[in-house]
Amino acid sequence: MLGAIGTAAVWLMLGAGAAFAAESVDVEDWQRFERLVRDDQIAYEDGLQAIREWGGALQRAYPTERFDGRLFFPLKGYGLKHVGGRRGEGYRPSRYEFVGPKRRIGHPAQDIFVHDGNQDSLDDRTGTPVEVLAIAEGIVLSTFSEWTPSPPADPGNGKRGGNYVWIYHPALRLLAYYAHLQDIAVTLGERVAGGARIATLGRTGTRAYAERSPTHLHLMLLRAKDMTPVDPYPMLQIPAPPGAGSQKRPPRGTAERQQ
Ligand SMILES: [Zn+2]
Repeated sequence: MLGAIGTAAVWLMLGAGAAFAAESVDVEDWQRFERLVRDDQIAYEDGLQAIREWGGALQRAYPTERFDGRLFFPLKGYGLKHVGGRRGEGYRPSRYEFVGPKRRIGHPAQDIFVHDGNQDSLDDRTGTPVEVLAIAEGIVLSTFSEWTPSPPADPGNGKRGGNYVWIYHPALRLLAYYAHLQDIAVTLGERVAGGARIATLGRTGTRAYAERSPTHLHLMLLRAKDMTPVDPYPMLQIPAPPGAGSQKRPPRGTAERQQ
């Protein structure tokens, strides 16, 4: 639907300028940016500039102190032991970049596996879909729910995440990418509470759909200011407090040291 490089240039001039003047952000503009990156339709330098501008704009529009940083495990009924690998070793940032030629290197994320032996995207224990929860309070910056298993015309079209949601979590100063979803329960621009249901888990995405892939959530966290990856593992170790409890802040320093 989005044409080509020309679209990116127009967006950079109009979309970004309008957003920053108002000290608020148009989430449709961010989603448009995310699609251009996903589909390799933005030049590297333009992408880097956009990252810098969006980083500032998001932090001005959604001040950290106005959002709750309490952490929640992103799959209801699951916990740390369901994270792939031993002690979070599934996180391999390598030389990953959000934009640019190196962006598909490594696995700058954690995969969290669910009980779905027959791969029907229903929890074997309950027969119901697994709920994907927001790891903290945030703003929905992008959603995609049109993934289909039929081979895309262009195999490199970036649909590896299947159906997905991007959320900005201001208290964490992180963007979170929740991928391989089934049904998405949030809308663009929506403010979601920490622990709120944002989707059900699925097997969408080129590789996740393959039979050899156990059903899992792919969770990637990127620092808002420069879109470099942060290991989600330290944050996944914090048990979700029952109800409205402590205002425990996330171990931001811990996460950054582990990069
Ligand atoms: Zn993954």
